[in-house]
Amino acid sequence: RSKRLQRKDSVPHISFRDIGGQNRSKKELEEALDFLIHRDKTHHYGIRPIKGILLSGPPGTGKTLMAKAAAHYTDSVFVATSGSEFVEMYVGVGAQRIRELFQEARNQAKKNRKNSAIVFIDEIDVIGGQREGAQHREYDQTLNQLLTEMDGISTNQDVQILVIAATNRKDMLDSALLRPGRFDRHITVDLPDKQARISILKLHTQNKPLAEDADIVQIADETFGFSGAQLESLTNEAAIYALRDNSDVIRQEHLSQAIDKVMMGEKTDREATQ
Ligand code: ATP
Repeated sequence: RSKRLQRKDSVPHISFRDIGGQNRSKKELEEALDFLIHRDKTHHYGIRPIKGILLSGPPGTGKTLMAKAAAHYTDSVFVATSGSEFVEMYVGVGAQRIRELFQEARNQAKKNRKNSAIVFIDEIDVIGGQREGAQHREYDQTLNQLLTEMDGISTNQDVQILVIAATNRKDMLDSALLRPGRFDRHITVDLPDKQARISILKLHTQNKPLAEDADIVQIADETFGFSGAQLESLTNEAAIYALRDNSDVIRQEHLSQAIDKVMMGEKTDREATQ
């Protein structure tokens, strides 16, 4: 699946409050980000700056949202790319793109008068996966360039850069990426539990005309194993069912139908890739 991420050039509006559940991950991330916010203190104590944070967990659990919220929390510009953008590139092009990405982060920060920038790399495993043999020279150069850029980050630069990477295959990553001074903070982003599903469903129905007797708790009960992205999709499908029914409000039956629809959709997706 190739997902082209839009490059954002200023501070995202998403905040931690827009992310349902994930309380432990949000807390861990905030703690790590506080080092970036108080970088004078960090510098004073001679603490090594945090250069890279790795978010790992299943697809659709909000890793991209977390990275955006991190930029919001630290008042940093946000520049993003995805490993999938580096697939089948000519030798040298990937490394060049990485150089440009970091340059762009610095430029955007200066342009927007910000002290820090977050470089977000989704699907890092595409460029940072373990590999054997010599047929992956292109990815090696890309990865080496990323490591070079990260090694060059220090606390006394005009623009402090933090790299946040996301993966759903952490076990696949090259150990060079996980060394101290690189992605040495790991935060797991899990599928939401029932309480988290309730929060996510509430977030995504707050601007929708939900029937008063619609029972979100029951929907959360019936959606064990759903990701945040699937729950978002469920609320959207339910709204479509309500519209088709000419109903002013989204009723419980629309939500129930939407559960089946999202489950069926997943099944068809799986069959299509088999
Ligand atoms: P992938 O691994 O597929 O890139 P991801 O973990 O980065 O996925 P996001 O792209 O952040 O997931 O989530 C996709 C969408 O799902 C979000 O835009 C949001 O609408 C919804 N979503 C996911 N998790 C949450 C959450 N915890 N709270 C609210 N919405 C969520």
